[in-house]
Amino acid sequence: MTDFLALAQTGIQQLSPYVPGKPVDELARELDMDPASIIKLASNENPLGASPKTRAAIERELAELTRYPDGNGFELKTQLARQCRVQIDQVTLGNGSNDILELVARAYLAPGLNAVFSEHAFAVYPIVVQAVNAGARVIPAKQFGHDLPAMLAAIDDKTRIVFLANPNNPTGTWFGPQALEDFLAAVPPTVVVVLDEAYIEYAVGGDLPDGLDYLARYPNLLVSRTFSKAYGLAALRVGYGLSSPVIADVLNRIRQPFNVNSLALAAACAALTDTDYLQRSRELNSAGMQQLEKGFAELGLQWIPSKGNFIAVDVGRDAGPVFQGLLREGVIVRPVAGYGMPNHLRVTIGLAEENSRFLEALRQVLARV
Ligand SMILES: *Cc1c(COP(=O)(O)O)cnc(C)c1O
Repeated sequence: MTDFLALAQTGIQQLSPYVPGKPVDELARELDMDPASIIKLASNENPLGASPKTRAAIERELAELTRYPDGNGFELKTQLARQCRVQIDQVTLGNGSNDILELVARAYLAPGLNAVFSEHAFAVYPIVVQAVNAGARVIPAKQFGHDLPAMLAAIDDKTRIVFLANPNNPTGTWFGPQALEDFLAAVPPTVVVVLDEAYIEYAVGGDLPDGLDYLARYPNLLVSRTFSKAYGLAALRVGYGLSSPVIADVLNRIRQPFNVNSLALAAACAALTDTDYLQRSRELNSAGMQQLEKGFAELGLQWIPSKGNFIAVDVGRDAGPVFQGLLREGVIVRPVAGYGMPNHLRVTIGLAEENSRFLEALRQVLARV
């Protein structure tokens, strides 16, 4: 019998696929529970649900289901360019921002070349790098966050990409404007710096830099963003990259011609104008973050301060059994042992009542495991 695994590219043979958060229906089937009684705080989804404005835009678009989408995403790119203060030729649309991460790896990496990223960084970076048989330089984290000077020092003449997540998932850690400025100023101009800002809508305006402020000065910078988190459209798969026109041209050459579907395009356009929804999402998130921090303090647990819509809590023991115990209470969170954090659980900020239910379930589970 032919061994088709052995025939796959070497990087792919050794690749461990991405492990998503457990779906509600799957847990309901396994435990014979009512799906409505389960809460999922495992995939950093917006607990508000999609906004009525984006739903209305999707319904209008349903009339055109037999047509191919606009392969250039003209309307969405135009809106993004205006809002992000760039030209339209600096925008690349992606099937989620994961698509952008994959495109940049395919465009700039190859066997013999390498990418630099941090320990505990977003799991898609190692996957896209390994899938093209390139090398990964994983730099030890500093208090769970990126050690930017060490990452800089790890760059060699074979490095083509550095992935930075600000804030990072699953740690929620972040770096400030000066650290980013120092990094960009010192990176060789031949290295593409991918600044993954999947959670920036929750964090900007505080002590986090806005990646867009650096685009004009750094033609090697690619900022990636998404509609999956604060905009509440994870199911539709739409994200974008902002960069110099040349990098955008390269990415657009290799993306699938219709990588963003028409429902997603219409919904994303509507979401961009729905500033009330975004504001409510932010407010709900900061209130929920405080609620969880207070609850963790009451349980005597440590957590990693986070700028995202999630928080990593140290349960002070192997988190696996705690995760399993929470599942039996109908609460899905995310174990992060695969990220080198075996004692932590990552919890997405939910609605106030979901956060309370999680904290109560955690209290009960910790008392018995
Ligand atoms: C969720 C997330 C993404 C991308 O999600 P998409 O749904 O593909 O847009 C990218 N980076 C980080 C750090 C994330 O947490």
